[in-house]
Amino acid sequence: MDCIFCKIIAGEIPADILYRDEEITAFRDINPLSPTHVLIIPGKHITSLDDLSGDELSLAGHMIEVANRIALEEGIAKNGYRLVINCGQHGGQIVPHLHMHLLGGRQLSGRLG
Ligand code: 5GP
Ligand code: ZN
Repeated sequence: MDCIFCKIIAGEIPADILYRDEEITAFRDINPLSPTHVLIIPGKHITSLDDLSGDELSLAGHMIEVANRIALEEGIAKNGYRLVINCGQHGGQIVPHLHMHLLGGRQLSGRLG
């Protein structure tokens, strides 16, 4: 499959991987918008949040759990951080493989849209 994030999981494209288990991989965003900018993605190719249903919904909780743990490790948990999932065109999703952004390490804008 011609998917950048599937290629990162397969090790075909290098990435700074911070966490990996049988369901989830987390790596640093190549174009960070904040001092900490990590992407948390399912190992299975799921195109977007809109495609998450049934048994796979538990993945969302697992992604949040991993994000929270990385926030702690990155030292940004105390001051706070933001988790974002862009979905589809209007949501600003560029890469069509479900991913959660973990942003922190500076005061983020109050604006979301
Ligand atoms: P989206 O707009 O789809 O929610 O965010 C996609 C994110 O993936 C962007 O922040 C972008 O910088 C990041 N990204 C795109 N290609 C690569 C890549 O090859 N490696 C890494 N580490 N991040 C990428
Ligand atoms: Zn993929």
